[in-house]
Amino acid sequence: MKELVVISGKGGTGKTSLVGSFAALAGSAVLADCDVDASDLPIILDPQVRERSDFLQGHHARVSADTCVGCGVCQSVCRFDAIRGDGPANTFSKRTFRVDPLACEGCGACQQVCPRNAIALEPVLAGQWFISATRFGFMVHARLGPGGQNSGKLVSQVRRKAHDLARTQSAGFLLVDGSPGIGCPVIASVAGADLVLMVTEPTPSGAHDLQRVVALVRHFKVPAMVCVNRWDLNPAQAAHIEAIAFEAGIVAAGRVRVDDVFDRAQRQKLTVVEMASTDVGRDIRRVWINIRARLDGLAQEKPS
Ligand code: SF4
Ligand code: SF4
Repeated sequence: MKELVVISGKGGTGKTSLVGSFAALAGSAVLADCDVDASDLPIILDPQVRERSDFLQGHHARVSADTCVGCGVCQSVCRFDAIRGDGPANTFSKRTFRVDPLACEGCGACQQVCPRNAIALEPVLAGQWFISATRFGFMVHARLGPGGQNSGKLVSQVRRKAHDLARTQSAGFLLVDGSPGIGCPVIASVAGADLVLMVTEPTPSGAHDLQRVVALVRHFKVPAMVCVNRWDLNPAQAAHIEAIAFEAGIVAAGRVRVDDVFDRAQRQKLTVVEMASTDVGRDIRRVWINIRARLDGLAQEKPS
């Protein structure tokens, strides 16, 4: 199984549309949507959820209103101002204390000092992850709940599960739609991959994003390729980006032209290569052939 991770410096570069098309072309793939903050791959692939699991992360304190005697000691130690004295009355006190879950950082200091053992630390439901069936194979994807933080851990969970599935399914490819940017989630998407494909646009910010990605893939020693999407919006800038990539040892996977077929395909819940034969479809097929060739070459270079 060969793992390709597709990333971009920012959202809106057409990364997800390309991943969908690669899934259509791969023949035997498991998919992982690691863009857990704004998951788009399900829009194209219309997944049927087969398994659903909670993603628990961190803790919040909770006061038992039956046990609290309203002494306020917990409030005095909370550095995050998360404890309020406006809880319901009980047999011991006219007012009990309660925790504001949005302000609580789960440090546990209140629990340590409570003389009545009235405070529990409970795991927080930060999101959910899913295994779904698509017309191109299984997909692992996730949704981070409102206020859910540090999606890098959820990304790692999605990727780990997708690896397991790809192995049990004997899939030829694991195709990962990576998180945008270069923060913790994208690091969790990229580390250890067989190949990274950077999708960018022919703009100055596209060139800047590429330079940041160069640093990232160098750090993790992951081979990389670049694909300039909508290259014909600015051919000179496209060539400039490919030159930067060449200097950094990043191979050009090919260019993809501008075409409104991307939008039409998305509206029809199809990938671009499933639409009637188009030039842009041929561009994408060429990119995929180059990626496969690079993955094959890398596999041969690996020490056995
Ligand atoms: S320390 Fe315990 S008993 Fe005192 S107010 Fe807080 S929760 Fe209630
Ligand atoms: S766990 Fe920490 S942050 Fe949360 S209420 Fe208790 S002391 Fe405050």
